[in-house]
Amino acid sequence: MRAEIIAVGSELLLGQITNTNATFISARLAEIGIDVYYHTVVGDNPDRLKKAIGIAQKRADLIVFSGGLGPTKDDLTKETIAVILETYLENNVDALNSIEDYFLRANRIMTENNKKQALILADSFVLKNHHGMAPGMALEKNGLQYILLPGPPHELEPMFEKEAIPYLLGALGKQEVIVSRVLKFYGVGEAELEDRVQGILLRQSNPTVAPLSSQDAVILRLTAKANSTDEAVKMIAPVEKEIRNLVDEFIFGTDDDTLSSKAAELLKKSQLTIAAAESLTAGLFLSELASEPGISSSLKGGVVVYNEEVKVEQLGIPQSLLDEYGVISSECAEALAVKVKQKFGSDIGIGLTGAAGPSPHDGKPVGTVWIGIALQNGEVSTFKLDLSGNRNTNRRRASQYALYYLIK
Ligand code: ATP
Ligand code: MG
Repeated sequence: MRAEIIAVGSELLLGQITNTNATFISARLAEIGIDVYYHTVVGDNPDRLKKAIGIAQKRADLIVFSGGLGPTKDDLTKETIAVILETYLENNVDALNSIEDYFLRANRIMTENNKKQALILADSFVLKNHHGMAPGMALEKNGLQYILLPGPPHELEPMFEKEAIPYLLGALGKQEVIVSRVLKFYGVGEAELEDRVQGILLRQSNPTVAPLSSQDAVILRLTAKANSTDEAVKMIAPVEKEIRNLVDEFIFGTDDDTLSSKAAELLKKSQLTIAAAESLTAGLFLSELASEPGISSSLKGGVVVYNEEVKVEQLGIPQSLLDEYGVISSECAEALAVKVKQKFGSDIGIGLTGAAGPSPHDGKPVGTVWIGIALQNGEVSTFKLDLSGNRNTNRRRASQYALYYLIK
């Protein structure tokens, strides 16, 4: 089967967004043995979209569309396909119900154009949207397969994996299932990780092992094809074990885990409370933790102690300590962690201090960060980072590393 991906959206042509949907779809199609021959990008223009579809119909057996399923006037992917395939759009009751439900729950008035999202191509198979309103569609016509997906990646990706892949496997007459497991790493670069697991990457076939890099973690995705989910899970387990034997120290979670969800889980499980004194991150660390539901039983509070006087006045950091070691030091990070733990009566105290940039601070180069962690048993550890990002990347990384050290 030869596939073509048509991404619809003028923002793509204007260089405002990157076509990550095509990358994602290509990788998933490769996993089920479908070769992608072409990526096409076309603006929100029905005539040019028609031309693009005409070309794709001559050179592909499967055409996957991304974007243009929304409620606005420029969203015209399904309308254009209906014209080309000489078919029509019909109302889908389930889709309309779920759109109405959404507006009811959100206590918002549903406008007429939102109903447009419940229209699907006649005789198409609905691909459910669990993260938005517009359903996707799959349709076979004159021996060609058409798949239509919404543009937002957080809607498209789960829809493609959970709805479109099983549909395609069925269309190909394959009995197999695809199961993926994601391992998440922190504190290691993509290149180093690849190097450490190179042996596994080189001889992989089923399951496949694909390194991916996201903004907040390095990821290895293990994907197995098998006749049943159980069998696929059994195939993944030994490869995961082998990877863990090589690089377990950097793994912080799997699948949907994030650094903050793992930290929150750990605090809850161990029934420990936490407080933080933040200098360069100015609340980022606490804000990340606070994004986790149910954190109120673990998170006591914290202080932003950005400048030197405030560190002394609010937390009682001895001026002599700052004079002797400087604010960006192991000693200061330790004192911040210990003092904030005392002040808030928490089990764990976190201290963050560093030079975010763009210029060196207190004689320390940009990217120098010290993190202090004071534990319930009185033990205190400090960690030094030498970050190489810009100001805000350094601040974000510092807060992520604090979560990482907390988990580890
Ligand atoms: P909506 O209901 O949000 O309007 P839609 O199906 O109509 O969804 P578009 O309007 O084409 O989709 O795109 C919505 C958003 O999805 C874009 O603003 C962009 O952020 C993202 N997006 C669209 N196409 C792509 C793509 N090919 N790769 C990555 N992101 C994309
Ligand atoms: Mg849209």
